Amino acid sequence: MTSRAKKYDVVIIGSGLGGLVCGAVLSKEGRSVCIIEKNEQLGGCLQTFRRDSITFDTGVHYIGGLEKGKSLWKIFNYLGIMGRLETVKMNEGGFDVVAFKGDADEYPYGMGYENFQRILLQKFPDEKNAIEKYCTDIQQICASVPLYNLSAEEQSDDTWAFTTGVKNYLEQLTPNKKLQNILAGTNLLYAGIADKTPLYVHALVVNSYIESAHRIKNGGDQIAKLLARVVKENGGEILRKQEVKKINTTNGIAESVELSNGRKIYGALFISGIHPAKTLELTDSDALRPAYRNRIAGLENSVSTFVLYAVLKPGTFPYLNRNYYYFNQDDVWQTATHTNESWPNMYALFEEVPEKNNQYTEGISIMTYMRFDEVAKWKNTFHTTLYENMRDEAYQQFKREKAEKLLDVVAIKFPNIRECVQSYYTSTPLSYRDYMGTDDGSMYGIVKDYNEPMKSMISVKTKVPNLLLTGQSINLHGVLGVTECALLTCMSILGKEYLLNKIHEANA
Ligand SMILES: Cc1cc2nc3c(=O)[nH]c(=O)nc-3n(C[C@H](O)[C@H](O)[C@H](O)COP(=O)(O)OP(=O)(O)OC[C@H]3O[C@@H](n4cnc5c(N)ncnc54)[C@H](O)[C@@H]3O)c2cc1C
Repeated sequence: MTSRAKKYDVVIIGSGLGGLVCGAVLSKEGRSVCIIEKNEQLGGCLQTFRRDSITFDTGVHYIGGLEKGKSLWKIFNYLGIMGRLETVKMNEGGFDVVAFKGDADEYPYGMGYENFQRILLQKFPDEKNAIEKYCTDIQQICASVPLYNLSAEEQSDDTWAFTTGVKNYLEQLTPNKKLQNILAGTNLLYAGIADKTPLYVHALVVNSYIESAHRIKNGGDQIAKLLARVVKENGGEILRKQEVKKINTTNGIAESVELSNGRKIYGALFISGIHPAKTLELTDSDALRPAYRNRIAGLENSVSTFVLYAVLKPGTFPYLNRNYYYFNQDDVWQTATHTNESWPNMYALFEEVPEKNNQYTEGISIMTYMRFDEVAKWKNTFHTTLYENMRDEAYQQFKREKAEKLLDVVAIKFPNIRECVQSYYTSTPLSYRDYMGTDDGSMYGIVKDYNEPMKSMISVKTKVPNLLLTGQSINLHGVLGVTECALLTCMSILGKEYLLNKIHEANA
């Protein structure tokens, strides 16, 4: 380090939600912060893009826990962004709707447990006990996770929700297969795997939306922009278009990160908000033992996605302020295991908040599963807005064929969909890989497995004492999960009680 090189209190790798929340908290708490982002746009999965004057979200379509007084609202309020964030509350009579091929009925999720139960009971009057037990269990599981409730209590030893599979739980709850499938019908939200996904993941995610579901007006990147503003207002710096290539350590302590242009950024503390396996690739420190490296590198990633973003002709597709989860079969767990012939087994349709006319949406995103092996043919190509290397015609043809096949399935529920579409654009696992910097475009990072709950638990601390981790693979994915994980990371610097008190004081 030259005598004139600046040394930050905290250097953060990646401006995803996790990195930005850490940056905002720590800069608010008086630390000098530098966030380094490889992309042009901040936010990772919060990024948006515009086509034909319509804004599309790439990785956040709706958010749970944003109702006034709920955990996420309190954290964002403490950070000073809640007042500036324009949100739209979703349809309380059904913010999510589950539907199946060959079943003309629709199964809406009501907002608030009273609504949720009432609407389900109308469909399943004989399942009162199961529906009530489900609601009680989900709320109890959520109440038992202190961080979820911004409580300083220790996590209880009762681990049944961590060691029970959500599919098994639902099978025990009721013999009614339809109800089981409806209760798991939004499992795309956590890329559910029949023999792996723990009940607590389902509970934390679904509960947050049942309590309150909101969209962000003008795109989820508003969150990234507002958090970046907090960082800058508190004297922090954000470097864009700079990829971290190396974490330099001396005697087991991180000293600096090295950027793609050779520049070194020095810090006292380092937080990595990128995939943990990619973090470990950045450093050859001996402090990180081979067993730890092998464990992290060997963990399975959640599946990736194919998304069709459709610009709609004005006044053609009513804005219902809800999402559709449509299954091309009865079993909601047979989804990412598709073959070329059976694809797409399901899709979720998300409306963009209308910019002009509140009655009609101007854009929809239709999301379904796609595994990385389906695009592996093009794995040696790379394309982002910063490095425009258009992939070959065979790839463009692949995307067109997939888009048309997806629209065929969408047309079963929405027969006039093709007449509504003015133009469409698509993304594949390669897009997510290139923008997020993962190996396989995984949607939600590392898979949680109830058979081996400890294996996928990754601490925010590493054996390099001044290198911490944050982001969706560490705790839980999603806006709420990643924000709370960022708190965990910051607590290990500032102290748990100290930070929670700050949040509670700001909300008093
Ligand atoms: C398709 C999709 C739909 C989703 N829908 C929802 C939803 O509706 N609601 C919800 O709550 N959640 C949703 N999620 C999940 C949510 O978006 C993510 O869990 C969350 O945004 C992840 O944040 P993160 O901080 O972990 O990291 P990421 O968003 O992965 O950000 C990591 C950042 O690090 C940068 N980076 C990587 N490597 C380097 C490097 N070497 N140097 C510098 N920078 C680097 C990347 O460019 C990126 O900006 C969705 C996710 C996906 C993929």
